[in-house]
Amino acid sequence: MARPKAQPQPHEGIIARVSLRTRLILVVVALLLGGFAGTSLISYETSARALRRVILHRELPLTGSNIYSEIQADLVRPVLISSQMATDTFVKDWLLEGEKHPTQITRYLAAIQARYHVTTAYLISAKTLRYYHFLGNDRTLSPTNPDDVWFWNVQAVKAPYDINIDYDEAANRTLTIFVNYKVFDYQGRFIGVTGVGLTVDTVKRIVESYRNDFQRNVYFVKPDGTIMLESARGAGLPDGNIRVLPGIRAIAPAILSQKEGQFSYRRPGGTYLLETRFIPQLGWYVMVERSEGAALSGLWHSFIANLIIGAAIILLTAGAVAYVISAYQRRLEVMATIDPLTGLCNRQVFDLAIARAIASRRRFGGPFALMLLDVDRFKEVNDTLGHLRGDVVLKRIAMVAGKNLRGTDLICRWGGEELVVLAYDCTLADAARMAEGLRTAIAEAPMQEPDDGSRITVSIGITDGRAGDDVDAVLHRADRALYAAKAAGRNRVMAASA
Ligand code: GH3
Ligand code: MG
Ligand code: MG
Repeated sequence: MARPKAQPQPHEGIIARVSLRTRLILVVVALLLGGFAGTSLISYETSARALRRVILHRELPLTGSNIYSEIQADLVRPVLISSQMATDTFVKDWLLEGEKHPTQITRYLAAIQARYHVTTAYLISAKTLRYYHFLGNDRTLSPTNPDDVWFWNVQAVKAPYDINIDYDEAANRTLTIFVNYKVFDYQGRFIGVTGVGLTVDTVKRIVESYRNDFQRNVYFVKPDGTIMLESARGAGLPDGNIRVLPGIRAIAPAILSQKEGQFSYRRPGGTYLLETRFIPQLGWYVMVERSEGAALSGLWHSFIANLIIGAAIILLTAGAVAYVISAYQRRLEVMATIDPLTGLCNRQVFDLAIARAIASRRRFGGPFALMLLDVDRFKEVNDTLGHLRGDVVLKRIAMVAGKNLRGTDLICRWGGEELVVLAYDCTLADAARMAEGLRTAIAEAPMQEPDDGSRITVSIGITDGRAGDDVDAVLHRADRALYAAKAAGRNRVMAASA
């Protein structure tokens, strides 16, 4: 029989294979996760940019226009009322006739106020600078009083009327829209100003609704930056100036130097997108802003959900791949170590085991024995029963051998109809007993199903491990012993001589 060359098997190979697999999976997972996170981030950024653009260039301007037109609509009625007062011949005549009997004009103003439910109605004489009020709280305007400057401003404008939002001094400083109409005499000379006032409750209501329904903050800002009305503060009187408020002060000069603009700025609480426009009729800026964080939170949530789902899928996939690789690896390992016909270990396993047994004996002195087993006249079995039934016989012999050896003994298919047994912690005498037991067990076992009474015998050559042995030496001795058993008539156990 051919003598195998025992090859030292590097154990590091298994470790390197395991860690290579782990490393491979880790690299693939990292690549997938990185790639997925990258593309998700890019698509989030793209959507966020698009959303920002839509908010800045469409949503906020639309809100601005809506607010503007709603205010316009609210202003139409007071404009009509004041125009009626300015053209009323009673008003003109009363002024031209020297403002006698102020109670007459007070009654007139009170009637206007009651009829149209305005908060105030008044008349100012250009000649006497007397301010006639519907409740009779008359006074005289002074060019040096900043609260009265509006009268001269109205006089200066080209249009027949001027709209002005300011605090009503006569009514507890409530914020009021005043529509001031110029009064001319029958020759077209300027003789005074008449008008009505409406509290800005309506404007406030509009502004509040934008905040509550659409999460927009709306501000009305004077050209000097003073905030006149602001939704974020609720119904209280606004104060503050955008030139000094944190965050917005950086862009305040830009806001106040152009008729309209779009901005993005940071302030405590987040980043805000802001649309501004100047409303000439009011002389104010209306500014509409929206928190970018709130607007993008939906996108952000779906980005995170995307990431979690993606990562979970990647990890599950990696787990499945790792499992499949392990299963294949195990199968390859089985294929590399197990003989498929008999289910015994193959020669590769034996080569590794015998090399170890010799090394271990050299180092620790543990005795071992080797048995080489060859089926007697197996060619005849094949010839009479056929190769397939010959295979069945080989399987049965392997089974009987497995049952009749110790659990610690390693039994391998050496090749063809030859088996080899490596018995650890076993002297030559022990081995002779075991081999004899094995031989009789095989000789008595039926090899066919159903049993036809025919029996198979084996010859066994045994040896023990000896000092100075190498793999070749041990195998050579066992081989010779087997040969001797065959020569002596087969169906017997022969031990190698000393
Ligand atoms: P002996 O060993 O007693 O001298 O006689 P033998 O007939 O067994 O002779 P030898 O060992 O030379 O022949 C072995 C035969 O075993 C040759 C081959 O056809 C057969 N054989 C080897 N492997 C297998 C196998 O896997 N299946 C089957 N059915 N037969 C095999
Ligand atoms: Mg043979
Ligand atoms: Mg044989």
